Amino acid sequence: MAGTDVDVAVVGAGLAGLATAVDLTAANLTVVVFERGDRPGGRVATDRVDGFTLDRGFQVLNTSYPQVVRRLDLDALEPRSFSPGALVRYGHGLHRVADPRRSPGYLSSTLFSELLPWRSKVALAAYLAEVAVMPASRLREREETTAAEALRRRGLDGPPTERFLRPFLSGVLGEDGLETSSRFVDLVLRSFLRGRTVVPATGMSAIPEQLAARLPDGTVRYGTTVEQVGRGQVHHAGGTTRARAVVVATDPTGAGRLLPSMPVPAMRALTTCYHAAPVPPLAEPTLVLDAEERVVANSVVLTAAAPSYSPDERALVATSVLGPDRDGPPIREDVVRRRLAFLYGVPTDDWEHLRTVVVTHALPAATPPLGDLRRTVDLGDGMFVTGDHRDTPSIQGALASGTRTARAVLRSLA
Ligand SMILES: Cc1cc2nc3c(=O)[nH]c(=O)nc-3n(C[C@H](O)[C@H](O)[C@H](O)COP(=O)(O)OP(=O)(O)OC[C@H]3O[C@@H](n4cnc5c(N)ncnc54)[C@H](O)[C@@H]3O)c2cc1C
Repeated sequence: MAGTDVDVAVVGAGLAGLATAVDLTAANLTVVVFERGDRPGGRVATDRVDGFTLDRGFQVLNTSYPQVVRRLDLDALEPRSFSPGALVRYGHGLHRVADPRRSPGYLSSTLFSELLPWRSKVALAAYLAEVAVMPASRLREREETTAAEALRRRGLDGPPTERFLRPFLSGVLGEDGLETSSRFVDLVLRSFLRGRTVVPATGMSAIPEQLAARLPDGTVRYGTTVEQVGRGQVHHAGGTTRARAVVVATDPTGAGRLLPSMPVPAMRALTTCYHAAPVPPLAEPTLVLDAEERVVANSVVLTAAAPSYSPDERALVATSVLGPDRDGPPIREDVVRRRLAFLYGVPTDDWEHLRTVVVTHALPAATPPLGDLRRTVDLGDGMFVTGDHRDTPSIQGALASGTRTARAVLRSLA
């Protein structure tokens, strides 16, 4: 290590940076992580507001993500589960869409729901069964196009897309044009069909906190913005740190700033409106979808899954809305609240608006061609880049990217 301060300098303590640092310290390298914020986790964050636990944008952890299985101590997170499937508001009914294999109790309500014609139900069930059982490696090799085009080719345009897939996927992808890569969409659906969606009892920030706790004390230097990186050097307000390898683990826009050759993807915006309701509008911890006007992408009574998110008997309702678009109008809470009255079929005038969380740079667009969904992380000359924009826009993608990057660093320093 002659002439350097550390083996590896990592810029950013989001999930990707943390995963990289955990693997490199486990391999006995000296690592420093520079983080401009005052906590680990980046886009995975939690705030306490009037005793409520509000994640910085409604997010869930999928227990079937390979990186979750590999890296996280799930029990220690005290996961609180949502029921699989969704309730879709269409016409005057709330229609259930559930996987009958996993929720046998909902077999007849799913089969006999009037949401879809029989032929559509059969086509949708065949598609979902296929992505649920096919190995991920094979899904990554299937012909790639936009999700909209892939669904059309399978005869799933019309009711299955409009009344279920588009509303369901919009909140996950941050877009409702289904412009996202069909390969990523297949993998997203696969993980929903195979795993449980959960939140940690104390909020999503418990995930990065668990990873950060595995690093030697003092590894992460909070409140330190990196202004410039170069071969073997990181420049920040505290001076210059010399390292054998430099890993840029910032958000995609930050990576474009520090590494001018890095393409910056379009970013999807997501807004979450949090309300406290004196009485839960629904007893079940199930996603409610807005299939007709799509004013909101989805809504859920969070406390039906995780009562610990509320300080008392009041229910916490999280509602995700796409946008705001760059030049579009801001999302209006009163419009959302009116729509929620229709979706849940209860008055919402006495709901308390706790907070609206706007994340303009929530998810990098994952439009085709993504290839095998893994972009290079080794830029040569001891420079590396990691993050969800190098893999897929998800917790799985960020952690997987960190894993690949740590391996690449170890190879290059060997
Ligand atoms: C509202 C919302 C909902 C989501 N829902 C889900 C979901 O349900 N399921 C799912 O799997 N995923 C979801 N995601 C996506 C997931 O949270 C992200 O893909 C993932 O957290 C990205 O991690 P990252 O490490 O790549 O980047 P980031 O989390 O952006 O981390 C980058 C870090 O770098 C730091 N940084 C940036 N520039 C500098 C600099 N110059 N110097 C020092 N530090 C710097 C930042 O402060 C940040 O901590 C959601 C995201 C949002 C915002």
